[in-house]
Amino acid sequence: MAEPAYLDVFGHEDLKARLARAAENRRLGQSILLHGHRGVGKQRLALWIAALINCPGPGSRPCGACRSCRLAGRLQHPDVHWFFPLPRPKGASGPDRLRKKLEDQRAAELEERRANPLYLDDEEGATGIYVAAAQVMRQLAYKAPAMGPAKVLVIGRAEALVPQAANPEAANALLKLLEEPPADTWIVLTSDVPGALLPTIRSRVQAVRVPPMPTEQVAAFLSDRLDLAPAEAHRLARLSGGSIGVALELQDADQDESRSFASDLVRALLDGRSAARLAAAHRFRSTGARGNFARILGVTRGILRDLLAISTGAPASDPEAVGSLARGRPLDPETLVAALDAIEDARELADRNINPQLIVVNFLRRASVTTGVPAGRHAG
Ligand SMILES: [Zn+2]
Repeated sequence: MAEPAYLDVFGHEDLKARLARAAENRRLGQSILLHGHRGVGKQRLALWIAALINCPGPGSRPCGACRSCRLAGRLQHPDVHWFFPLPRPKGASGPDRLRKKLEDQRAAELEERRANPLYLDDEEGATGIYVAAAQVMRQLAYKAPAMGPAKVLVIGRAEALVPQAANPEAANALLKLLEEPPADTWIVLTSDVPGALLPTIRSRVQAVRVPPMPTEQVAAFLSDRLDLAPAEAHRLARLSGGSIGVALELQDADQDESRSFASDLVRALLDGRSAARLAAAHRFRSTGARGNFARILGVTRGILRDLLAISTGAPASDPEAVGSLARGRPLDPETLVAALDAIEDARELADRNINPQLIVVNFLRRASVTTGVPAGRHAG
């Protein structure tokens, strides 16, 4: 049976077995700190621990199938509360208003994470875990569990409690809780910079290191879940330092870059001027056709297909990506079909490791000639 999204923790088998044994023998501390590299899966493991504590079994826990596990895996368990840094709310006057705004923001973010389990953390925008949030945690900790047997507070990137050193109530409210959690309450903190946590917090928690994953395992994740080609998956896995989160970020950046290159390529094609075509070709290096370049050609093909769809009145698969290209420009289906033909040839040449600049020049010339856009029009 497929496990609910957030219980499907990839890898970390030894650590999970160790934690499950500790829970079985009632040796699992009530205040835990998971530390390890950024993106290595700490918050996911924290949610997994929350399910472990609440799963009634029988058999190995968390079973992934009972009601408690299913709710936890969908981020809907009434006794599992996930906190993380949020942007500072604007224009909230008074502690009650602030608390309300923060809780609304947290609910909205949880909704997004529910919809996209491979979400990327917004580390720049979301900066703080505020006093108001720590007060909510305290309230939750001292309430009876709704479903039971235990409440679990997961606090991701717990070091975000520290930048308010001038205003340490949040940390203090949490300290009290960490020191003496109610008997039915577990608190799982995560941090990739445990040294930045207040020493008083560090001294109160059971520290558990989440190790980086073997490169092979990160690569397996990328080819399984994202359907990346093996060479591409290995390249990202090697750069990731054993962290799936970092690999996903790298892939996201690559995609952004590919999209930008591909859009320019299509723009140059539709523009038809030789200066624009030359400029587009010059953005490419003269070597390395099989890596990034092959991906850019793949994205270009996607854009051309979408434009072809639009030109025939059909919906595009990624309207946002092609909107600006299609706007204010008559799109001729014949032109686009010819361009798609030319891009297939370009992909074949890339596979044979031909100079990418030459491939682009050739692609633009072929696509323009076959489509009747005169090569020298508006030259210069
Ligand atoms: Zn279960």
